[in-house]
Amino acid sequence: MIHKQAEKPLLNETEMTFGGLGIAPKILDVISKLGFSVPTSIQHKAITPAIEGKDIIGIAQTGTGKTLAFGIPLIQQILKVGGRKGKGLIILPTRELALQVDEVMQKIGRSFGIKTVVLIGGASMYNQVCLIRNNPHIVIGTPGRIIDHIAQRTLSLSDVSVLILDEADRMFDMGFAPQIAKILQVVPKERQTMLFSATMPDGIVKIASHHMKLPVRVEIARAGTTAENIEHELFVVKRDQKFPLLKKLLEEYKGSVLIFLRVKHNARKICDGLRGVGISSAEIHSNRSLGQRKEALEGFKLGRYRVLVATDIASRGIDVKGIELVINYDLPENPEDYVHRIGRTGRAGMTGKAISFCLPDQGDKVREIERLTRLYLPIVKLPDLSAHMGKPISASNSFERNNYPPRRSRQTNRFSYAKKRY
Ligand code: AMP
Repeated sequence: MIHKQAEKPLLNETEMTFGGLGIAPKILDVISKLGFSVPTSIQHKAITPAIEGKDIIGIAQTGTGKTLAFGIPLIQQILKVGGRKGKGLIILPTRELALQVDEVMQKIGRSFGIKTVVLIGGASMYNQVCLIRNNPHIVIGTPGRIIDHIAQRTLSLSDVSVLILDEADRMFDMGFAPQIAKILQVVPKERQTMLFSATMPDGIVKIASHHMKLPVRVEIARAGTTAENIEHELFVVKRDQKFPLLKKLLEEYKGSVLIFLRVKHNARKICDGLRGVGISSAEIHSNRSLGQRKEALEGFKLGRYRVLVATDIASRGIDVKGIELVINYDLPENPEDYVHRIGRTGRAGMTGKAISFCLPDQGDKVREIERLTRLYLPIVKLPDLSAHMGKPISASNSFERNNYPPRRSRQTNRFSYAKKRY
């Protein structure tokens, strides 16, 4: 069942092209060579005012094409001033997202000689300093590492003419507000600012009112809206049924699958368990080095790993086309993360599927998600798992058992939620 939303489609399906939005002909050529012909809603709404130099607040979830929505105007501004009168600064929450945005900037900017530098933790400071000395036109980085460079005086932001805050709500969730405030103190007041966020919590509204000039607000869907071409399903399971159900689903769905966990220490056990049944998988979370995360993501993109197991920290940065299925092995801590997690499937107009595992006492969490997304997550009857129950994930299977108190008093609770929903 596909839940249709009343809001605008993810992709504009009119005869709209990138022509007529004010994009310079040479940039139009590059966009067309990259195979993009129809702007997405956020691109259609944001590109023209951004090219005019206006401040922009873009309310858009991931997967809506927002990188090009700010990337095209940024490159056009740099080319307009001859590339030497100001630089672009893109601040975003995760390393993966930084690398991904850099890839897009390079694709558009390379033929114009635009240079970029990526400033992220886990990578060599020295190499970054060398690249900064090369006078890049665009600096892309996470708040912590940008601050490190400012503190060591290896980076000056006094000539930033365009500032982009991408996934601002996520940066706040991750506790980067103080770093962002510091960066805002050292960039010139005379600049263009574009802020993109899936949701608009108070902290971000404050930034917008203090640090932006009459911003144009472009919104493609209500904050908290999930991509509309996604089919949602919910299984009510006991803890020890999660892994058997996962195996069963991976037999049923043959494509690439992204699995979300709430905590990173379970990722290894799940990967090992899947490898044990012949399913190639990789893990991506904050305990992995930058190199390992890159390798996992690349391997997933190339099909070397069929399954990628991730935590929410890593979820924002994963831009992989054609993910057939997202599995919420654990429900997310915050309902907003549900939106971000499933933004990985059904991207750019394709149909996707999101399956969530819910413990019987997590009814409240499901209702929070349903309230935010205004969706109904239909409960699907649990299939027969007897053939899959035999093999534990690991020798100890400890995380499943430890966290699951098999007390009788909770038993009633466990099923009351499911009953209510039928
Ligand atoms: P983003 O939200 O910027 O991460 O983009 C999500 C995905 O949509 C990326 O894989 C882009 O390559 C793709 N995309 C962006 N703009 C367009 C477009 N105008 N037409 C088709 N695909 C697009």
